[in-house]
Amino acid sequence: MSHIEKLFGLANKVAIVTGGARGIGKCAAENMAAVGADIVIFDILDDLAAQTAQEIAAAHKVRTASFHCDVTDPEQVKASVEAAAQKMGTLDLLFNNAGIVIQVPAEDVSPEDWRKVVDVNLNGVFYMAQAFGKWLISHNKKGSIVNTASMSATIVNIPQPQASYNATKAAVRHLSKSLAVEWVQKGIRVNSISPGYIWTDLTASVREDYRNSWISQIPFGRMGDPQELAGAIIYLFSESAAYTTGCDILIDGSFTVV
Ligand code: NAP
Repeated sequence: MSHIEKLFGLANKVAIVTGGARGIGKCAAENMAAVGADIVIFDILDDLAAQTAQEIAAAHKVRTASFHCDVTDPEQVKASVEAAAQKMGTLDLLFNNAGIVIQVPAEDVSPEDWRKVVDVNLNGVFYMAQAFGKWLISHNKKGSIVNTASMSATIVNIPQPQASYNATKAAVRHLSKSLAVEWVQKGIRVNSISPGYIWTDLTASVREDYRNSWISQIPFGRMGDPQELAGAIIYLFSESAAYTTGCDILIDGSFTVV
């Protein structure tokens, strides 16, 4: 094994990636597989999840699987984590990444929409972390979780109104720190990444005038690519981060600096 593989390789690790059918989750899964991880995709887009899993297996010669898992349903989450462990033989890593955004002025947000965002972005992240953490603890295993927060945990984006998204992402960042401290003695590390504006289907579906406004505010003068997050995610999962927990890595093209 080369020195770089010792530092950053994920060989023989089994990783669950939520929201892994496309976007940031898919790109992270591809890159984790490229450094040796076996991949389990959890998503609600079943066909796309299965296709992504097949593509990754073919490209990287690792074991992959996909499961329908709506992260807002705690019973389905528990059953899916158990099924993934059964199928793959073990579990080591969780990229807890599924998320949605609804952009409506705060005074007009319906209780249903508010609950939907909180349910996916915060409750879903907790249900997944809890089920995965409990599985590790009950099997006396060490493991690592990376949650996807956002730069919206730190700043309030303009011009789009998205109080629910911002509030849930701030909560995810602090949830990560809280779980990191609770589980540090159990050998489970919990960190988060906070991406800036990244080009995916999620941001592609946002109004074009919003996107143009963002680009004019980003010092880099462009949005990021999911590939530009992959190294940070792999680092947090790797042996190199053995002493790193409760950390948030901001990858935002310096948006939050100015
Ligand atoms: P994306 O392209 O929409 O991918 C997210 C995936 O998660 C989709 O396949 C989505 O399915 C799935 N998903 C949604 N609700 C789910 C649920 N209840 N259970 C399981 N899977 C579910 O989004 P992305 O841009 O890659 O974003 C991934 C994460 O990064 C999110 O947490 C997002 O908030 C965060 N983030 C993104 C950016 C950005 O600029 N793109 C910036 C900062 C943070 P559906 O398509 O059916 O919803």
